[in-house]
Parts: sequence; structure tokens; C-alpha cells
Amino acid sequence: MFRDIERVLIDQGVIAARVRALGQEIAEDLARDQRRRRENGTDPGRVVLVPVLTGAMVFGADLIRQMPLKMSIDVVAVSSYPGRSVASKGASIRGELPQNLGGTHVLVVDDILDSGQTLAVVRSLICEQEPASIRLCVLLEKKKPGEPSLVKPEYVGFEIPDEFVVGYGLDYNGFYRNYPDIAVLKHEAM
Ligand code: 5GP
Ligand code: MG
Repeated sequence: MFRDIERVLIDQGVIAARVRALGQEIAEDLARDQRRRRENGTDPGRVVLVPVLTGAMVFGADLIRQMPLKMSIDVVAVSSYPGRSVASKGASIRGELPQNLGGTHVLVVDDILDSGQTLAVVRSLICEQEPASIRLCVLLEKKKPGEPSLVKPEYVGFEIPDEFVVGYGLDYNGFYRNYPDIAVLKHEAM
């Protein structure tokens, strides 16, 4: 695995520090929402974290342990583009969507924002259930000059250049998810 890596873009120590800060920021925002609702005499609403599988598995696992907050987890599976293709062919939900999200505070967590198709679909489907609030959190956002993405996440770990990355949950053909850093593959490995 290691010999397929061309270079490391974001080191695991840097990721860990950013995830810690993100977790604290998000937990404070969610707790504030709940407190405001309580003060207004309304139901504060449960917090539900919705990781987008499979890419958000590693990030989500680290993020939840940096959020000192009572929450439940309900995953959503979205099919992403396979293999080497670099343009998303649109997103579709695989299996069931989390249910009973009405009146809850939803935090959707994904590994990377590219075109924004995936998160646009997930967000619009969840919004049909009328949650009290919905926020999007991505570890990475690809910066493409002149190509604004379909959604603007409330929380972004890192902005990266328009390159195909693997590691820390992100795969190429199903592999490299367990690589601990965010990295670019060698051309021969793709
Ligand atoms: P979008 O729908 O925003 O165009 O694409 C987002 C999804 O595509 C992500 O959830 C991820 O699964 C996949 N994706 C986009 N860019 C990359 C990348 O550089 N590396 C990997 N491994 N997956 C990517
Ligand atoms: Mg994905």
C-alpha cells in the first residue's frame, strides 16, 4: 500500500488537530441551538449525526469522539463514482434513509465535497422530514476555480486543490481507506 503513494497532502497529526477543533466548534453550535429552543419553551430536539458511507467512516469515527454531546448516529449510503473517473456522475441513495428526523438537529458528515451532488441529494431528502436544523460537515473541499459547488457546507476541515486523493477513509477502487494520511496516488497505481 505505502509504495503506491506519490505524496502526502495532509499528515495524520494535522488532521487530528483539525478534527478536534471542528468537533468542539460543531458541538458548541449544536448545544447553543438546543439551549435557545429550551429557553423559548420548545422541545430542544435531539442531535442526529448522519455519516455518508463509506467515505465518512474514518472521519466520522474520529469526529464524534471530539463532540461532548448526547447524540445518536444514523448512516446513509450513497453510491459514488467508481475507480479512476474524476467527474461525479451524480449521486443516488443506496438502501434506506434515516427516519424520524423531524424536529432533530441533523449533522451530515462526508469525506469530501467535489461537485456537491452527493450532499445536495442527501440534504434535500433529509429536509423533507423537517428537521429543526441541518448542517453539512466535510473533511475536505476541492477548490475548483470558476466552478462553484452545488452546496456550501457549514463546516470544512481543509480546502484542497483539484486532485484525486485517498486515505483517512477515502478510497480508490475500494482500497487505501486505511491509509492514515490524506495522500495522492502514484500514476501507476491508478
Ligand atoms: P460530489 O458528489 O461532491 O461530486 O462527490 C463527492 C463524493 O465523491 C465523495 O463523497 C467521494 O466519495 C467522492 N470523491 C470526490 N472526490 C474524491 C477524491 O479525490 N478521492 C476520493 N477517494 N473520492 C472522491
Ligand atoms: Mg462519499
